[in-house]
Amino acid sequence: MRQDTIFALASGAGRAGIAVLRLSGPAAGQALRHIGGLATLPPARRATLASFRDPRDGTPIDRGLACWFPAPASFTGEAVVELHVHGGRAVIAAMAEALSALPHLRPAEAGEFSRRAFENGKLDLTAAEGLADLVNAETAAQRRQALRQLGGELGALYEKWRLALLHALARVEADIDFPDEDLPEELASQVRPPVLKLLGDIKFHLDDGHRGERLREGFSIVILGPPNVGKSSLLNALSRRDAAIVSSIAGTTRDVIEVLFDLDGFPVVMADTAGLRESDDPVEQEGMRRALSRAENADLKLVLVEACRWPELDSAAESVIDEDTFIVLTKIDLCRAIKPAALPGPRAFEVSAATGEGMGELMSALGEAARSKLEIGTAPAITRLRHRRALEECASHLDRFLNAGAAELAAEDLRLAARALGRITGHVDVEDILDIVFREFCIGK
Ligand code: GDP
Repeated sequence: MRQDTIFALASGAGRAGIAVLRLSGPAAGQALRHIGGLATLPPARRATLASFRDPRDGTPIDRGLACWFPAPASFTGEAVVELHVHGGRAVIAAMAEALSALPHLRPAEAGEFSRRAFENGKLDLTAAEGLADLVNAETAAQRRQALRQLGGELGALYEKWRLALLHALARVEADIDFPDEDLPEELASQVRPPVLKLLGDIKFHLDDGHRGERLREGFSIVILGPPNVGKSSLLNALSRRDAAIVSSIAGTTRDVIEVLFDLDGFPVVMADTAGLRESDDPVEQEGMRRALSRAENADLKLVLVEACRWPELDSAAESVIDEDTFIVLTKIDLCRAIKPAALPGPRAFEVSAATGEGMGELMSALGEAARSKLEIGTAPAITRLRHRRALEECASHLDRFLNAGAAELAAEDLRLAARALGRITGHVDVEDILDIVFREFCIGK
């Protein structure tokens, strides 16, 4: 058994009404009795009032609630204790010091509680990732996706696929290892159709427009246009208009400023870039290069043109226009008299950051664009590159399996494909293959 018992502040740092400290490991119960001055452990999974004291000299620290979760019915699967104290810095510091002084206790490392939960089979890797995403979720759509993943939806899908492959593998292996047994005829022909179906399902799952990943990272919009066209003003107006600005990201370079905000529950990362214009100045050229490379990776580009100059379009700006571009005519308050030439289709907008005119339409169109690219349907979505890579690897092994000649090679391809899936959830176990072989075929009875 693991010797060390870990503890950490489970609630956020800083002053608050209540702070929660969590302990996990074999010494958790004993630690609770010591710090709570209790002769016996309180009833399991009930909040119990306790006076917390420094176990070294009995000095009172605080009065609060203690919850005792005996193993294995706890978050980590180990003995767990939660201590609810008042959320002041001095209280938390004194509690941490008192806990450190107890035998076999040490402060937890980052992610250690979830790691133990995974190791004890309480969470698979995708659920652990869902938990991390839920803690980091900044918008409603991110929260919904994280909760689904924490609930095991994604893990269950991959596990279902992996078990289907293990079944196929068991049949192929039985054919190789036990050729004299009375096995169904033309085994391979029974295995191919389900593998083919599975490969189709995996390819369909992969072909999701990266929704889940985008939702985690944010829908990226880049604002492009010549200097003074009104890029910064538009960024400010758009991000300020929405009440829920969650944070400002410090630009990676001096030339790209990013703001993350919540648009109808979807996270949007909007970047203001250096002005696009012909220039011999190396600094300006570098800024432009960065702006254009940023534009290449963006989900949506806003190409800005001053309404008074429309339809005159800068060649650099013109070069980036594609189907993921909105044309935005700026400063329409200055050009009221001159009606701009016909707008190029429905993906063009007229706005004034100064008066706010047209901003509502632009905002709703942006929200709609974010929704169409980020909204996940009823099927669970891939949320990480790690999943995608493993699924691609699995699919390529299945492709090879379907084209393989010899049974030995076919078995190896299936084994590798199942292992790729197992890596996503953290379930990689060769023992289950043997179990299936013997259960299905009753060989060696
Ligand atoms: P950037 O260089 O493209 O980021 O442009 P700025 O946002 O800094 O704006 C350049 C100038 O245009 C500033 O003086 C702004 O006040 C002005 N400006 C921006 N938007 C508007 C607008 O909608 N109407 C008017 N009248 N002026 C604007």
